[in-house]
Amino acid sequence: MIHLGFYEFAPRRVACRRDLCVTCAAPRLAEGRRFWRVLHLWFIPLAPAGWITRWYCRTCGEETEKGRPSRRGIFFLGAGGGLLIAAIGAALLRHPDEPHGWIMLLSGLALAGVLVFAATRPSATAYTRARAAVEPLDPTVCPLCNQPVLPGTKPTCHSCRVRVDRL
Ligand SMILES: [Zn+2]
Ligand SMILES: [Zn+2]
Repeated sequence: MIHLGFYEFAPRRVACRRDLCVTCAAPRLAEGRRFWRVLHLWFIPLAPAGWITRWYCRTCGEETEKGRPSRRGIFFLGAGGGLLIAAIGAALLRHPDEPHGWIMLLSGLALAGVLVFAATRPSATAYTRARAAVEPLDPTVCPLCNQPVLPGTKPTCHSCRVRVDRL
């Protein structure tokens, strides 16, 4: 069993925005923390893999997307896998003595179809709709310290050193 994953180091608060918190089931002020990620195999760090920003609810402290009903990306990734199986099946059809081509082609297409259906189900879009309805922050005032924020393409509070994002 290969244990490949990411270590995440040195979180730093870099931004804030209004976001839908799944745990609170309400729009909340969230802060974005940036982590330095390092790819590791078992316990051996292999290579730096860049930065990732995660959003945390300022009310409950959980990640805002934690336990989100459906993560579309994963469904579409699975659907891509189904299409790959179907493509291999289609390639196998060229060999007349290979009986598995049709099975792979049909089951791959069925898998892709089911996953695309699941990804577009209401549970996924209800989250997207509710998140789209969250009122964005006023970018002229820092929500953390109430100081005025200089306008610009990336409004930033100079005392907190955070970016004020409009979603
Ligand atoms: Zn919350
Ligand atoms: Zn501030």
